[in-house]
Amino acid sequence: MSKTKKQRKASYRKRQKNTTSIYFLLLAVFSAFSLFMVLFFGFTQRVVMNQTYKNEAVRDLADKGRKIQTAILETSPDDFNGNRSAQLRYLSAYYDVDVYILDGDGKVLFPQEPHFNHGETQGQEKFDFSSAIVVLKAHLQETDENNPALYEGEGEYCYGDKISLYEDSEEYLYITKSVNLIESVSRQMTLRIWLLGAFMFLLSFAVASAVSGWLTRPLSEMTQKARRLARGDFNVDFHGSNYGQEMLELAGTLNFARDELSKTDRMQKELIANVSHDFKTPLTMIKAYASMIIEISGDNPEKRNKHAQVIVDETDRLTSLVTDVLDLSKIRSGIDMLKFTTVDMSSYVKEILTRFDYLKETQGYKLIAEIDEDLHTRADELKIGQALYNLIGNAVNYTGEDKRVFVRLKKYSDSEFYFSVTDTGAGIKQEEIGEIWDRYYRSSQTHKRPVKGTGLGLSIVKTVFEKHEFKFGVKSEEGKGSTFFVYFPIIT
Ligand code: ADP
Repeated sequence: MSKTKKQRKASYRKRQKNTTSIYFLLLAVFSAFSLFMVLFFGFTQRVVMNQTYKNEAVRDLADKGRKIQTAILETSPDDFNGNRSAQLRYLSAYYDVDVYILDGDGKVLFPQEPHFNHGETQGQEKFDFSSAIVVLKAHLQETDENNPALYEGEGEYCYGDKISLYEDSEEYLYITKSVNLIESVSRQMTLRIWLLGAFMFLLSFAVASAVSGWLTRPLSEMTQKARRLARGDFNVDFHGSNYGQEMLELAGTLNFARDELSKTDRMQKELIANVSHDFKTPLTMIKAYASMIIEISGDNPEKRNKHAQVIVDETDRLTSLVTDVLDLSKIRSGIDMLKFTTVDMSSYVKEILTRFDYLKETQGYKLIAEIDEDLHTRADELKIGQALYNLIGNAVNYTGEDKRVFVRLKKYSDSEFYFSVTDTGAGIKQEEIGEIWDRYYRSSQTHKRPVKGTGLGLSIVKTVFEKHEFKFGVKSEEGKGSTFFVYFPIIT
């Protein structure tokens, strides 16, 4: 069931209410994007980067440990005036790690003074390595011989190895690097990512408003103009340049719609003016002749019949005018759907031609037909019949003194055949050829019409062929005549 105007308006308003504006859509997209980025980087930072930092720190410690070990074992403490503690402090500061030499019980052998690290004097409790040495020894046992132990202790990464500073002595080199530093770097990074996320979120508001403003400005402008157009103002002009290809296309389409609407509007007005004029003429005649019958010819059967015949003729004219107007509006509005069947065009054209037999007999018209047999197509039989009848009728109306009309139905290719009708009349002026298909167009030339015409004939022809999507047209030469043609697809 089709909706009423009121229902349509209500459902449009409802849709409008439920539809989010471009600004919010963009905002949602940008915010979702920034959230996704923050989560993605946060996750990467947490899982991947943290692990990478740790691995890197352990690798770094291993490297430094090896260098420090070599330095201790191979460099003579004499370089530090025999002061092993000074050497360790130097190595500690140089490599940014804590370096100790412990005995087997975890007692610090070197450096012998309170440790000075990172500018702060460490408390003595920090130098209790009794439990650390146990852990180190355990790790050393697990590793291959001659290899140092490398592991994560409590809050620090540890490097340790058994060394021998003096002959037959047994000491342990114990190097640590605090985990805190790495963690604080990682925390800093996480914080920065969150800050960046917040910034991106705020930025999405700015970008969404800027982009939506930029996008919606031409759209709301066009909506305003389209409303004016809907109210019948055909002077509106849609612009879309500076806003990209799509807007330009939309503006072009709307301008095209405006031109078409204004053309239809103009033609509708002309149609009404012409139709009412043409209704008026026969009505005036009917009234005049009816009055004449009453006042003058009532008693004279011969005159009365003549006058009554005029009334009948004028009524026929009115009837065909009304029928044509109705047909056209029905076909155009699509109320009258096409009913496709397979049509034997060869027989059908012959049948249509018989409708003109009375003109051959009474007025000497010669309809010369060349019809190929067995040509079938799919079409709405009645509508196509009406279109072809109109074309032949026009040819009869406009043909020359010789009263000849040529009708052809010929195979054109394996997939197409054509119908054409040629007259020998005055032809159509080049400047009029585009307009003859318009509703109610009538050329300036007056002529005697054996077939009744309403000025709507070609408009019906055009609409019928267009609805069928058939190729059609006209070729005309002034002074020689015109050929109207249409191509049909072959159905076997
Ligand atoms: P009409 O009832 O006036 O024939 P049509 O819509 O059939 O209305 O035709 C529109 C106009 O096209 C005609 O008024 C005439 O000027 C022109 N026309 C149509 N057919 C022919 C033809 N065969 N030869 C010359 N002019 C034609």
